[in-house]
Amino acid sequence: MSTYEPQIIRQQCVEQNQNLLEQASATLKAKGCTVYLAKDTTETTAIIQQLCTAEQKALCTFAPELEEINLQQIVPQAVQTDLEAVVAEGLQKPYVNPRRAPLDDATPEQITGILHQYLNEPAEESNLLAAVSRQIKVSADKSDWGITGLDGIAADTGTIILAEDQGNGRLVSNIPTRHLAIAGLEKLYPSNDTALESIHAAWKNGGRQDAPVYYSYITGPSRTGDIEGAMVCGMHGPLAVHVILLDNGRSTLLAQNKGQVLKCIECGKCTAALQQLTDGQDTPAPLTCKSLALANLKTPFQIADEQWSACSFQCPVGIRTEDLQNAMQ
Ligand code: SF4
Repeated sequence: MSTYEPQIIRQQCVEQNQNLLEQASATLKAKGCTVYLAKDTTETTAIIQQLCTAEQKALCTFAPELEEINLQQIVPQAVQTDLEAVVAEGLQKPYVNPRRAPLDDATPEQITGILHQYLNEPAEESNLLAAVSRQIKVSADKSDWGITGLDGIAADTGTIILAEDQGNGRLVSNIPTRHLAIAGLEKLYPSNDTALESIHAAWKNGGRQDAPVYYSYITGPSRTGDIEGAMVCGMHGPLAVHVILLDNGRSTLLAQNKGQVLKCIECGKCTAALQQLTDGQDTPAPLTCKSLALANLKTPFQIADEQWSACSFQCPVGIRTEDLQNAMQ
């Protein structure tokens, strides 16, 4: 078995979470990021509202952590740039998982209608996507804040990794004056290599495409010494990078020996099984073992024994039904 087997990496990430947290906090700060450790959504809300005031403009992407804290309620002016999330919201459907083609059943007419509503101005049908893309770029130019999740933090270098297929994460993290990235504690990895191995596994197992299209590696705020050797910040990217490391129940799961679910890489492979397990109940988006266990800490789900006995899924990082069952107790 390779040293970089995702299952082994994720086990190490969970077991070494406290060490990785200390290391990543130090390296992120050394690279010029401002780092916050948020205990819960109340603390996260206070941090975000102190940074991004109601008068400031903001853009955001879709990310599990942003759903978890309900970013749209905290920063209602934040413009969603993930067009699939926009369409899912227009259809009043949960955004199941970006890596599993969540909009398979949306008709072209529905998508077109929602994108016309998203646009602030009329556009020809043939020019619709270009007009939407232009509008997002113009909004980015005028925005004070770009708010994203992230796919991994390499603790050894303090590098943030964003992986995506639309390019909006790159735009949101680069163009606005300040970047705010929010990550669950389980997104901490020992190194770039280990993070990439897990990110690849997530896309491969998501079933939509084998790998993301865009990677962004962000190591502190943008800076350059190109002109007369003088260091200038904010030339090719944000002037400031703020990182919120979100606990919100994760350390409780770890302390109670329920941390196996935090190995989850959000591939979405188990989503259908979990939908059956929680049939009719209000589930988090995207629905994964991890998101379900975290949501269960706040409002316990009602799952009958026969539903558990019928539940099974093949998780690429080795989370078993028993691990989820243990985390939900
Ligand atoms: S728990 Fe589900 S979403 Fe998470 S890695 Fe396993 S199969 Fe994928």
